Amino acid sequence: YQAKEGSGSVAAYDSARDAASTDRLALLAELREALAADDQLVLVLQPAVDLATGAPTGVEALIRWRHPRRGWLNPHEFIRPVENSEQLGTFTRYVLDKALGVAAQWARDGLDLPISVNLSARSLLNPRLPTEIADALRRHRVPARRLVLEITETVVMSELEVIDEVLGALRTMGVQLAVDDFGTGFSSLTFLTRVTVDELKVDRSFVIRMADSPEAAAIVRSTVGLGQQLGLRVVAEGVETAEQRSALAELGCTAAQGYHFFKPMPADKIGAVLGGLVDEARPRIIPIRADG
Ligand code: C2E
Ligand code: MG
Ligand code: MG
Ligand code: MG
Repeated sequence: YQAKEGSGSVAAYDSARDAASTDRLALLAELREALAADDQLVLVLQPAVDLATGAPTGVEALIRWRHPRRGWLNPHEFIRPVENSEQLGTFTRYVLDKALGVAAQWARDGLDLPISVNLSARSLLNPRLPTEIADALRRHRVPARRLVLEITETVVMSELEVIDEVLGALRTMGVQLAVDDFGTGFSSLTFLTRVTVDELKVDRSFVIRMADSPEAAAIVRSTVGLGQQLGLRVVAEGVETAEQRSALAELGCTAAQGYHFFKPMPADKIGAVLGGLVDEARPRIIPIRADG
């Protein structure tokens, strides 16, 4: 919160902050109930597609809160307070458990697609995270390579020593790592020299401005080139138009995600949607193996 200039600004600032912190505490108390009630926090799913073939390359899980009084809440309305509370661990395990439940159901339906889960950078400070994820994978019988963890680099850089070990353990397990919102952090490039990842997600802000900003277009082009040189998938986020789609395809971007292809949708819809796509793209889909 920025205090406004002029007389009375201090009082205005303080009351705004008090109201905000009261609201934050109420929200966290309600989150505790939501995590226990088990029917308020739901994942919606958004597929990414191969820009060359249109085949689905994976599906991202995005959290929504069906709040009993406040209605549907998007992550920007509650993630920050959760990240700074002691409920982060419970929340992270909850999301992973739901996402792996979805992946397990796909496996039973013969769909061999990775699921991407967003992790708050702060949850990487928990040294037990790799063990918790290994347990969850085993419980759901989902192979590690079918889980992609999306992380943003900004917060992480300050405590890289601590998270090196956690990310290393996750990689050893075979879990895939993606850098989310790539290009928006302060040290994206340094991050890549420290952590081996599988995927870069080009931030939506660059995709939106590609057509009319030479700078944004250059950043997207460089990210695609960087991905090619490092052997990483590059996924563009927030693709809303056919123009953006063809520009990205021309640049050699691997895959894309956005309203132009799919909006995030409830889990019970995705089977039908992906079933159709997978049928069309049958030759490209790797058959599911019994050993996973
Ligand atoms: P993100 O991981 O970068 O997710 C992409 C966001 O862009 C999602 O918003 C998605 O709905 C939205 N989006 C996708 N395609 C388009 C498009 O074509 N146009 C526009 N305008 N928007 C598009 P959402 O679901 O509100 O999520 C916002 C952020 O919240 C995510 O950004 C992620 O950082 C965070 N988040 C979401 N779910 C979780 C979660 O389970 N755990 C944690 N820790 N963070 C989460
Ligand atoms: Mg993401
Ligand atoms: Mg993203
Ligand atoms: Mg983003």
